[in-house]
Amino acid sequence: MFDVIIIGAGFAGSVLAERFATQKDKKVLILERRQHIGGNCFDERDENGILIHKYGPHLFHTDYEDVWKYLSQFTNWDVYHHHVQAMIDGQIVPLPFNLNTLQKLFPPRLADKLEAALLNRYDYNTKVPILKLKQSTDKDLRYLADYVYEKIFLHYTEKQWGLSPENIEGAVTARVPVFVGRDDRYFNDRFQAVPSKGYTALFKKMLNHKNIKLMLNTNFNDIMKIDGDKILFFDQPFEGKIIYTGQLDELFDEKFGALPYRSLDMKFETVNIENYQSASTVNYPNNYDFTRITEFKKIHHTNSKSTTILKEYPQNYVRGKNTPYYPIFTEDNQKRYEQYATEVNKIQNLIAVGRLAEYRYYDMDDIVKRALDVFGEIQ
Ligand code: UDP
Repeated sequence: MFDVIIIGAGFAGSVLAERFATQKDKKVLILERRQHIGGNCFDERDENGILIHKYGPHLFHTDYEDVWKYLSQFTNWDVYHHHVQAMIDGQIVPLPFNLNTLQKLFPPRLADKLEAALLNRYDYNTKVPILKLKQSTDKDLRYLADYVYEKIFLHYTEKQWGLSPENIEGAVTARVPVFVGRDDRYFNDRFQAVPSKGYTALFKKMLNHKNIKLMLNTNFNDIMKIDGDKILFFDQPFEGKIIYTGQLDELFDEKFGALPYRSLDMKFETVNIENYQSASTVNYPNNYDFTRITEFKKIHHTNSKSTTILKEYPQNYVRGKNTPYYPIFTEDNQKRYEQYATEVNKIQNLIAVGRLAEYRYYDMDDIVKRALDVFGEIQ
């Protein structure tokens, strides 16, 4: 009855469903465990009429023109450039740490000296990962690096990951570099926007096709089983393509042990004032148990007397209890992941795609790009 079965209705699963349905005229079945589509991009209006991102702030940004054009078939966009601020020693300053941040945090003469040291060593408008800046031999740069490391990265990363910056993959802290320039935006990609009617509406449009059948509240484990190098669907071998976008350890009954993830407890609050904070997101690296506060009406502009904020409290991931948001990228975990990936390759019609299934810290545009590439490679 179906040519393709897709497990998971986030970006990886939905893009592939749309492509198979529209480009190859295949009949696609999507199995989604949650009661909604969109994966962690899912958004909905709350009781204040404010569009909230149920699984934390999702800000679309990309340099891939093909990804931008592809998604633009399913949504109009509101141009939106994300701004993040950080509370450092009682002051609100722009993040990523840049020359404006530097001028705000240091007395003028010291700020000028540190700025000169940075500009002497690096080109204007370049990004420097904090762990690289920390290796500076220049005395002033070393002083600055130690300060930024301590005030912005160390305690935030310990909260967020339960690990220090040295003990996670360098690419993680490099996502928020020291920026040798005055651009206060969180991202500098060419395309930055949020879907005008939200992400859920985008996914709805993407999946609205006669060839796509969606089953929500459906656990793939209940109807599919791995049997040697075959996958059984209702106890019959399924010969079509199977796209799996969930956790690989779960697919293989944790036979090589669990793949660790980091989770967050998302606590939404309604505050009875029109505006809560000066930027969409304010990070709190050094105090409190939460890492950051996001105010959603600043992302999707809404007129309302009250406002909705989200505090993110990092915690360990426990299967069945909370959401696996981030793969914890250490060498040991990567090795374990590779063991599972080898098992995937043994099943000829199985393809694992997406942030969970590839155990990668993908952004939304990376996943769309990856799904489009995977589709291009499929015979
Ligand atoms: N980070 C930090 N301090 C900050 C912001 C980020 O130490 O104020 C580090 C932290 O390790 C975090 C990583 O940079 O996990 C990536 O941050 P990003 O904002 O990209 O995380 P996401 O939005 O994906 O949770």
